[in-house]
Amino acid sequence: MLHTPIDNVRADTPEDWLARHGGETAVLLHCPGALAARHARFRRGFPGAVTYAVKANPDAALIAALVQGGMTAFDVASPAEMALVRGISPQAVLHYHNPVRSRAEIAAGIAAGVASWSVDDMGELDKLVACGVAPDTEIAVRLKLPVAGAAYDFGAKFGAEPDLAQALLARAAAGGFRVSMTFHVGTQCADPDAWTAYMQACAQAARKAGVRLSRLNVGGGFPSGRDGAEPALEPIFAAIAGGVSAFDEAPALVCEPGRALVADAMAYAVRIKARRGAALYLSDGIYGGLSECPSIGMPRVDLVTEGARATAAPRPFALWGPTCDSLDRLPGETLLPGCAGEGDWLLFRSAGAYLVGVTTCFNGYGTYERGEVARLWTDPSRPLG
Ligand SMILES: *Cc1c(COP(=O)(O)O)cnc(C)c1O
Repeated sequence: MLHTPIDNVRADTPEDWLARHGGETAVLLHCPGALAARHARFRRGFPGAVTYAVKANPDAALIAALVQGGMTAFDVASPAEMALVRGISPQAVLHYHNPVRSRAEIAAGIAAGVASWSVDDMGELDKLVACGVAPDTEIAVRLKLPVAGAAYDFGAKFGAEPDLAQALLARAAAGGFRVSMTFHVGTQCADPDAWTAYMQACAQAARKAGVRLSRLNVGGGFPSGRDGAEPALEPIFAAIAGGVSAFDEAPALVCEPGRALVADAMAYAVRIKARRGAALYLSDGIYGGLSECPSIGMPRVDLVTEGARATAAPRPFALWGPTCDSLDRLPGETLLPGCAGEGDWLLFRSAGAYLVGVTTCFNGYGTYERGEVARLWTDPSRPLG
């Protein structure tokens, strides 16, 4: 479901919200101040234009809040995402950066006035030309390198290796397109050198192709604070600002974060239905709002009991989801206060990305309520965003 409005139920903290919550359905708690602060941090720190990768969280109210904060361009991957964004912001600039598209999808992109198309394959570039994409449109050649440092490798699916990237650049330039490049270092990547390596490889491919890039889109992949600490974004911004020195003529920079813009603005509260020894059975699991945990690991989890964050001595627990599928278990063991038991809540950090739009209703679970909080951390000195 793309259009789930954020409910009007508000509280100061997640603890307050949960203390008033009568039910046991999981709750996605949104902190608008944290979203605004993180967006401002990107706009202040990133040395170029900040766009938003809609797939990270396609919630209409969240997109509207980003527009309110000055967001004018979006990375969209499907006609449905184009319609969603344009419904909220009719003037929005659309970057269609899913590099594999059917001809019907290309026609929908042309009708929507897409400003930038990524390509990583000669056949796909031919398809864009055959479908009549206007020559003054931007073609962003997507490069891939073997990459370390990210939670998983985006190059496994998309991206052209340097030789093919060079050929695509030359062909797009000959076709009269505005030529740019793009890449994705892999999601939740905390290593600034990943961006530097990609920027150097882009500069080299452009030089070999004899093409001057109008822009360079350094993708998403920026880390969120999954471990509960503030993510170190500024060193990455600095590496990107320094990376343009690899180019003979510096291209204008663009980024398209998903996760790092929105994840830390939300937390996900899941109720403990039962405890058996060192095993906790939860009201949601990997088929619902916690589907990312098996692939990129656990975020910070806090225990909320009787309206307060519990601080009892920790011990390891196995966390099981509510379905009858034995795969429905969160990875590893999670350290939680030993007092955890039936009726308590687990509060999962950084839930604002890759939860909305991803949950299934397998076995009748996976639905959640929505709430709003003034702050996500009990510690009032903790900065937002
Ligand atoms: C998913 C995606 C993003 C956002 O990635 P994050 O890791 O969430 O920042 C950006 N660009 C493209 C092309 C994507 O597919």
